[in-house]
Formats: sequence, C-alpha cells, structure tokens
Amino acid sequence: MTDKTKAVAVLTSGGDAPGMNAAIRSVVRMATHGGYRVIGFQRGYDGLMADDGIELEPRSVSNILQRGGTILKTARSIEFQADKGCAQAAQVLDAHGVGGLVVIGGDGSFRGAHALGRAWTGAIVGVPATIDNDISGTDETIGFDTALNTALEAIDRLRDTASAHERLFLVEVMGRHSGFIALAVGTAGGAEEILVPEVDTDLDACAARLVAAREKGKTMSIVVCAEGENQSGAFAVARELEQRTGFVPTVTVLGHIQRGGRPSARDRILATKLGAFAVTAIQRGSTDVMVGDVRGELVLSSLEKSAADKKGLDPFLLELIQVLAQ
Ligand code: ATP
Repeated sequence: MTDKTKAVAVLTSGGDAPGMNAAIRSVVRMATHGGYRVIGFQRGYDGLMADDGIELEPRSVSNILQRGGTILKTARSIEFQADKGCAQAAQVLDAHGVGGLVVIGGDGSFRGAHALGRAWTGAIVGVPATIDNDISGTDETIGFDTALNTALEAIDRLRDTASAHERLFLVEVMGRHSGFIALAVGTAGGAEEILVPEVDTDLDACAARLVAAREKGKTMSIVVCAEGENQSGAFAVARELEQRTGFVPTVTVLGHIQRGGRPSARDRILATKLGAFAVTAIQRGSTDVMVGDVRGELVLSSLEKSAADKKGLDPFLLELIQVLAQ
C-alpha cells in the first residue's frame, strides 16, 4: 500500500490474549511512522460492522505495553459470519479510506479475515494472538508464553500442597481443541501424566502407572488435563481415575485466570515484532496472509492455510513425559 492517504485499521477478535495491547501499540506506531492514519475498531468484527472506530495516534497507545486484555476490546461475532456481515464491514472500511486491515486474533478470526477478503479489496494481514498456540505458520502465538507461566505458577503451588498431603491432584488447563498449554505446563511442572485432546487417552494405563508409582514410593502425583480432553473435562477424568485407582483426586480448574495478566517479556517482544511486521507486509502489498515467527525469522503464510492446518504437539516431549515421571 503505497498511497499514504489511505488508513491502516486494526482490531482484536476472538479470545483475549496477553500481549494483544503490545501488538496494537506496535501496529499504531509502525503505521504512523510510515505516514499512515490509523483507525482502531472496537469489539472485533462486531465493532467493525457497527462502524465503532477510533483514530489512534502514537500517544493513544501509551502505557499499554504491559497490560493484559485489549484496549480495543474483543468479541466473538455470529453476525459477521454471514456474507452480509462481510459486505457491511467492507463498506465501513471503504467509507474510512482504509487500505490495509490488521486482524489480531486466533484461527477463527483468521477464517473471518479470509472471508472478508472476498468482499473487500484492501490488504488484510493477521497477527496470531491466542493463548492456545494452535496456529500453524508461527512457532508461538502471542499470549501463549504468559498463559503458560501463569498456569505453571499455579501448578508449582499445588505441588506444595499435593506433596504435604500426599495426594493426587488433577489440574485442568485451557485448550479446548489443543494440548499446547497442557503439554508445556505439564513438562515444566513435572506432571506425572498429561492428557491432551490430540492423543487418545488410555485411562486404564494411566491409572495403572499412577498405582505403580505409589507402590514404588511416590507419595503424590499431578495429572495435567487440557479442558478439551474427553470432551467432559477434569471432573469426569477424576471420577474415572478414582474408580480405577481408589485414590480420591483433588480437582483444580485454572480457567480464565490463564487469560489475563501482564504479558511476559517474551510475549511483549513477539507482539512488538509481529505487529510491526504486519504493517510492513501491508506496505509491501501483501494480503490474505498472517505474520509469524518461525525459528527466529519473520515470515508470511496464507491465512486460509494457517486457519485450516493443524499444528502438531512436540512428539519428543510427548514421549518424554512418562520417562521423566518415573
Ligand atoms: P481463540 O483461539 O482465542 O478462541 P479465535 O480468533 O479463534 O480466538 P473465534 O471465536 O473462533 O476466536 O473467532 C473469532 C471470530 O471470527 C468469530 O466470532 C467470528 O466473528 C469470526 N469467524 C470465525 N470463523 C469465521 C468464518 N468461517 N467466517 C467468517 N467469520 C468467522
């Protein structure tokens, strides 16, 4: 986009993730540095369709780098998913002279961005931000590192209690369709078992390992369970394990505390790089792409492909769990 009379628009969509604000700040400052006007649309695609935009300049994004959530608010929009929604959004963007749109969100938001590209001629670039880390095209998504560290702190605390009371603790972490948080936090927190939606859980084998560990002198165990596991969550898994082992598990559901909070340094840096690179991509005329950081390099990949491809868990870590939990 070489026309400097055009504006760059930015919105956040889907679940909030720590570091979204750092990404907004980076987009705004990079775009104004490049000579563009910037408009922030509030509440995701809902706010875009409703023309709920605000002019953003470098001072509008002061003091937000370290804050969780998103100053632009976010939403999940049913209405936008209809063709009429995309057409309405395109009209609003054109009315404001927008030439490039940065969508900060997860895979659902990228499906929406790709759909919008069929109704609007401007450049659309996605910035991957979701605590789930389930987007291919980037090694990590914005928010994952912070969520992981929040969950880890909780597990470290639970471990103290599990150890003092010689108990089995079952901890449910976020991840409806993906086990990235569970696998990472289970590894970092030394969990005995990690249950993720990507792997069919054999509860008989899991229970047998927990009993064998007790017989060998382990006095406490932690099982980390992704919320999508078994579709029915940690309480159902706890009941099954209790029946098979005779241990009465204590269940802790970490829930939404994993979403908020100050972004980690790593997330702030990732968000800053990806936000700025999204503007560069727009300037260079790229569209229908997302930005990513792959092995330390900033790359572009197709929005459609990134939303459709399933990113795999680290198979080496998956195998290691049982070795390390001996
Ligand atoms: P998270 O991974 O944190 O949940 P997300 O971006 O995947 O974030 P979703 O709720 O799945 O969150 O998607 C955000 C919004 O994107 C939806 O509310 C909807 O407005 C839009 N969207 C999702 N899929 C489509 C689609 N196929 N067509 C148009 N819009 C879509």
